Amino acid sequence: MKDRPTRRSFSISAAETDETQVVRAAYDALRHNDSHMMITVAPTLSCNFGCRYCFQGTDKPLTRMPPSVREATDAFILRELERRKSFHLTWYGGEPLMDQDAIWDISDAAIRHCDAQGARCTAR
Ligand code: SF4
Repeated sequence: MKDRPTRRSFSISAAETDETQVVRAAYDALRHNDSHMMITVAPTLSCNFGCRYCFQGTDKPLTRMPPSVREATDAFILRELERRKSFHLTWYGGEPLMDQDAIWDISDAAIRHCDAQGARCTAR
């Protein structure tokens, strides 16, 4: 109980504790925990903004994810969800909302697969 932090507090470990090893072990445990899966999907690099700092410049292509890539993404999620307890999907672009069809299709498939596997599903 002495090393257990409480809310808005911290603990100081005994001098003989190898803190680097403790952090490394926690990192490795999380890194090799395959019960959770996270993927990032960029359905389009299109964007209706023109931020001056954008790595894509101000003249972005109007592209959308082809149905074959949506289907491949769906199949990948289904295949990789086996044995997972939770799944998180992050949308990336461009502006992902420029290709709402891909968002609806892939989200629908991911939720369906998670429900079938009993996995928790989140997205942002
Ligand atoms: S992709 Fe992001 S950074 Fe680039 S213009 Fe759109 S909002 Fe701005």
